[in-house]
Amino acid sequence: MTQKLKPASGLPAKVASQLEAAQAHCRALGSRLTAQRKEVFELLLLRGGAAKAYDLQDDMRERHGRVAPSTVYRALEFLMAQHLVHRVDALNTFIACNAEHQAHHPLLLVCSRCEAVTELQDDETSELVFARLRQADSGFLGADIEVKGVCGKCRAQETKEAARA
Ligand SMILES: [Zn+2]
Ligand SMILES: [Zn+2]
Repeated sequence: MTQKLKPASGLPAKVASQLEAAQAHCRALGSRLTAQRKEVFELLLLRGGAAKAYDLQDDMRERHGRVAPSTVYRALEFLMAQHLVHRVDALNTFIACNAEHQAHHPLLLVCSRCEAVTELQDDETSELVFARLRQADSGFLGADIEVKGVCGKCRAQETKEAARA
């Protein structure tokens, strides 16, 4: 079987330290980052951005052979509950949280062209949006904020294409 992904021992330093931090975070919360949950988080980190559950399932299959989809979903549910991972509803993808792993409302910038997702650390804006929702008495309870648009990279590409045309 081809091994596209590096084995755990050959992890990039950044991923290794993120995994270590996640382990410590779960320990502090009294939850268990089992080997399987940790591996799903590792695969998500190795993707370097947002990923679909079935992409992670593919990555896992490359390492272990057959993997049930529920294995990946259950691990993602756990990781979301620990605030290590966010779901990007606009694209049905998942992204590793880049903040201190407190319960928080992420502000996610979602590129509709390349599907890249960036998490902004801007609690002030999130608080403001939720305060306005309360004021409007909309009865709407917010969780995560997803802003759809086109990222800088794609805009630069569009400019280049426009210049060529
Ligand atoms: Zn986050
Ligand atoms: Zn983009």
